[in-house]
Amino acid sequence: MPERRPLSPATSVVAAGRPERRQGTPVNPAIVLSSTYVSQGKVPTGEHFYARAGTETWHPLEQTLGVLEGSAHPALLFASGMAAIAAAMSLVPPGGRIVVPRHAYNVTIAYARDLGERSGVELTLVDIADTDEVVAAVRGTDRPASMLWVETPTNPMLEVADLPVLVEEAHAVGALVAADNTFATPLGQRPLSFGTDVVVHSVTKYLAGHSDVILGAALSDDPGLHERLASYRTMHGAVAGPTEAWLALRGVRTLALRVERSQSNAAELARRLAEHPAVAEVRHPSLPTDPGHERAARLMDGFGSIIGLRPHGGVAAADAVVAALELWVPATSLGGVESSLERRRRFPLESATVPEDLLRLSVGVEDVEDLWADLDQALRSVSGV
Ligand SMILES: *Cc1c(COP(=O)(O)O)cnc(C)c1O
Repeated sequence: MPERRPLSPATSVVAAGRPERRQGTPVNPAIVLSSTYVSQGKVPTGEHFYARAGTETWHPLEQTLGVLEGSAHPALLFASGMAAIAAAMSLVPPGGRIVVPRHAYNVTIAYARDLGERSGVELTLVDIADTDEVVAAVRGTDRPASMLWVETPTNPMLEVADLPVLVEEAHAVGALVAADNTFATPLGQRPLSFGTDVVVHSVTKYLAGHSDVILGAALSDDPGLHERLASYRTMHGAVAGPTEAWLALRGVRTLALRVERSQSNAAELARRLAEHPAVAEVRHPSLPTDPGHERAARLMDGFGSIIGLRPHGGVAAADAVVAALELWVPATSLGGVESSLERRRRFPLESATVPEDLLRLSVGVEDVEDLWADLDQALRSVSGV
């Protein structure tokens, strides 16, 4: 038989993780609600014996995410993005050093700091877009880092890292590289293809896509790291519920459609916002003037659907814009079908280098003219322009 070309990711989101195709079998996997499995004999044999260690309801989604990230192994599902992040950071030895973007997801930074207090792990914060600064931090003055944590684009500042260069430099000094790929999704970039050791996701966001599930995932091509992450999961027990895994797989089926629509909406809104008289600053990597534009164009497929927006008038104006919106949902989180926004510094944990008046917009899949009309009326009502 002639060799088939590999499936496009837009096809894999639909086709991967299906039950075996036989006459009369369902096209979707079943949700199996069982904490334990029939198991007898001197030692447990067979694939499953207890659902904390593994259950068939995880596999279709784990397999699909593995295919999308181009991984040698299926993904490992976790109860949340943070559970996957904690598992990945467990690879840093006690007394080791971890380099983290100063604008990584704020709970990621808080967790790394907590790790420092409990296990003597030293935390170095960097501007992930400044390659020289990151390389110097990874090399260190007296000892190299054990792990470089990369989030690209960052949440919420949308800085874009030069991932292939950072991976090469980190590996040269023996540091592991972990990447949080939540913002880009596997359709936007595949960090494992650049040699990244571990990839994590908040599946809660774009992958599940409907703001109805909390779930996470971690992946590694390395069999030893994969095994350590799996055993961390079993021991720490932050495992996914079967219904969440099923819902998230259902969400993944439309990932390509949702990402395509939300990205084109975001690029169009960013372009219009950049010319709006009530707007002081817009960040979106699609804008040719954006600091992350060149790198994102080179390293990513698409520019994502998160926009950073600072209206004229500071914090009061930013809060008033949020309050004046009727269609956009005022809420935290991102990556749902519905457009939402919030001022990030509402959270005391948010980095002090994130501007107080920065609104993070998560652009959904609605009609772009409706989204624009609502934004425009809110900005005008607040600024009086
Ligand atoms: C939301 C988020 C997380 C945390 O994921 P949860 O599923 O909420 O635990 C981690 N990283 C990024 C970039 C996120 O946006």
